[in-house]
Amino acid sequence: TPALSIRGLTKVYGNGFHALKGIDLDVPQGDFFALLGPNGAGKSTTLGIVCSLVQKTAGEVSIYGIDIDRDFAKAKYHLGVVPQEFNFSQFEKVEDIVLAQAGYYGMSLREARPRCAQLLKDLGLWDKRNGPARMLSGGMKRRLMIARALVHRPRLLILDEPTAGVDIELRRSMWEYMRRINREEGTTIILTTHYLEEAESLCRNIAIINHGEIVKNTSVRELLTEL
Ligand code: ADP
Ligand code: ADP
Repeated sequence: TPALSIRGLTKVYGNGFHALKGIDLDVPQGDFFALLGPNGAGKSTTLGIVCSLVQKTAGEVSIYGIDIDRDFAKAKYHLGVVPQEFNFSQFEKVEDIVLAQAGYYGMSLREARPRCAQLLKDLGLWDKRNGPARMLSGGMKRRLMIARALVHRPRLLILDEPTAGVDIELRRSMWEYMRRINREEGTTIILTTHYLEEAESLCRNIAIINHGEIVKNTSVRELLTEL
């Protein structure tokens, strides 16, 4: 079973715009996968549908073999998502933001506390845990979203432009962290990016999307030999 399987995915927005024109994608378990494309290509629309935030017009999406139309409630346990925009309360305590997510996934506090502590330490947020989220720098807020997305130990982590607007030093440390959870925890990772360099440095497989169509789907190694 692939971690993510997409068949004939189509999205026509309310204004008649065809954002996705029947895309097919398979991401194997344990993969580090990039969806690469320019702005407006359809990357966020694709991820939005996978996360059930955007309604699809046609097609099928399965997460670890679970059809999201049939049982998103079950599929979502396999899924951790890091959106592009900060979507937590700026006034809430850093630690509470992560613990609340654990609660949402049905984890007990007993289970959630050590997991949360481990994530906040690994992501360099431990010293900030008792302060409100608004006290964090932009890079820290991004790492907080990663901690929150991982708290329930999802098998599939999806990140939408994780290093957009991030300085080079933080970008490298985020790359290192993502490599580590892919390698050590076997977490399947899918990220969108418009930097070829990011896909090249991190990912094993890549799909290139443009104008709502997959124009290439190959291994990164293969792609580089063609350039
Ligand atoms: P739908 O219900 O068709 O999925 P939304 O409710 O997400 O569409 O958006 C409603 C309307 O907002 C769209 O029809 C469009 O006119 C406008 N809109 C929102 N975001 C965008 C965007 N990124 N580009 C162009 N138009 C947008
Ligand atoms: P990407 O993430 O690759 O930059 P998106 O999936 O955000 O691309 O957008 C794909 C296309 O769909 C863009 O042309 C965008 O303007 C359009 N779009 C996005 N959301 C809406 C919406 N709600 N209504 C109409 N058009 C939209």
